[in-house]
Amino acid sequence: MDGKAKPRVVIVGAGFGGLTAARRTAHLSCQITIIDRKNHHTFQPLLYQVATAGLSPGEIAAPIRWILRTHSNVEVLLEEVVDFKLDQKKVITRSQALDYDYLVIASGAAHAYFGHQDWEPLAPGLKTIEDALEIRRRVLLAFELAERQAVQGEGAAPPQFVVVGGGPTGVELAGTLAEIARHALKHEFRNIQPQQARILLIEGGPRVLPAYSEDLSQKAADQLRRLGVEVRTSSVVTQIEPGPVWAGGRRIPAAVVVWAAGVAASPLGRKLGAPVDRAGRVLVQPDLSIPGHPEVFVIGDLAALADENGKMLPGVAPVAIQQGEWVAKTIARDLEHQPRRAFRYHDKGSLATIGRAAAVAQFGKFELSGYFAWLAWLFVHILYLIGFRNRLIVMINWAWAYFTYQRGARLITGSNELPGWGEPQSADWAPEPPVVVRRSA
Ligand SMILES: Cc1cc2nc3c(=O)[nH]c(=O)nc-3n(C[C@H](O)[C@H](O)[C@H](O)COP(=O)(O)OP(=O)(O)OC[C@H]3O[C@@H](n4cnc5c(N)ncnc54)[C@H](O)[C@@H]3O)c2cc1C
Repeated sequence: MDGKAKPRVVIVGAGFGGLTAARRTAHLSCQITIIDRKNHHTFQPLLYQVATAGLSPGEIAAPIRWILRTHSNVEVLLEEVVDFKLDQKKVITRSQALDYDYLVIASGAAHAYFGHQDWEPLAPGLKTIEDALEIRRRVLLAFELAERQAVQGEGAAPPQFVVVGGGPTGVELAGTLAEIARHALKHEFRNIQPQQARILLIEGGPRVLPAYSEDLSQKAADQLRRLGVEVRTSSVVTQIEPGPVWAGGRRIPAAVVVWAAGVAASPLGRKLGAPVDRAGRVLVQPDLSIPGHPEVFVIGDLAALADENGKMLPGVAPVAIQQGEWVAKTIARDLEHQPRRAFRYHDKGSLATIGRAAAVAQFGKFELSGYFAWLAWLFVHILYLIGFRNRLIVMINWAWAYFTYQRGARLITGSNELPGWGEPQSADWAPEPPVVVRRSA
């Protein structure tokens, strides 16, 4: 900074953290560049609705350029960041090097398959619009292929679905898949009975929604079962093949497998040379900067920071948003030559939806489950959606779906192939354990 020129702030990632940092920093006397490899900001909490044909992509995502259109000191670049040269204060993208005075890295997280990257094509995760559309394609296609098979006289068993991971994403996906099978598709097929489709949620730990109290976990599992989901806890997936999944020593045929079990930080975290945790999250200083570089901040899902009780902050949108706000405040304090302060997270509570009129909520010691928790979830998520038009359309779609059980975005786009299709969709979920051949001496 030469004292006259406006400081140049480069922000990597236009998710919850980066976008908030850009909007707040835009009120300072700074020149801001926000870089994202997508042209849109995705409202990830509603991705499962796209994956289950309840909403269309445009209703939960908005162009970054449009969101920031009123801030004339913010430029938007569609680019992928690949590296940093911190000693030269440069961000390296696929096509250029950009100078900065302040750097904010908010590139989020990706799926982790715990060393089994080969499972990814067989069991897609849910992180982007593309992921959601692929899951939607597979789910809807599975019913179509089952119908076709039945017409060919090859049995009329409806497809079986396996969701791996009992965190919030796995729970909401499994609950909504059950709703599709039991209600939305019920009267539309002539040769299979979609309501007999089986949905299995497999969780390696002892309970679903482990971040919530034991009581709420139990209530979530009960609500899932009422919706028609088979919940299997303390069961670790050991193999995924085209067709079957192996878990707890059992072979489970599955037309569609969805991965909701693991999260790893964006690989950009490891490019900074700063210490990272096992998930690749950057261990940030209390002011969210990295050691030795007060001008470089890491926020959101990519940052690892403990709260005042020593508990790590969760990878949720409110943490990313509050950290984005905090970075803007810190830059403002720097510009006014005031000392920096430590970030503190204000936890306003957690909500997880399970399906139609089913959810759990935890606000400090106050807990809620069922219909009213679901209403609270609905209200918060519509409130935080970007754009008045999106809020209105999502509200109308939800009301329509609630009263009619219909899902309006049931389009199969792309290939009509399903990995492993043809595996017998046995009605029995507990077929034979793996055969161990022992040789006699
Ligand atoms: C399915 C799902 C459901 C969720 N539900 C909830 C919920 O109900 N409530 C809640 O609070 N939280 C929820 N979360 C978590 C929440 O979405 C995240 O905590 C939050 O998005 C983190 O914000 P972020 O800014 O760190 O990263 P993100 O929002 O993930 O944004 C990262 C951005 O960086 C961009 N990017 C990544 N790498 C590069 C690169 N190399 N170059 C350029 N750009 C790059 C990406 O395109 C993306 O736009 C959910 C997450 C998922 C996946």
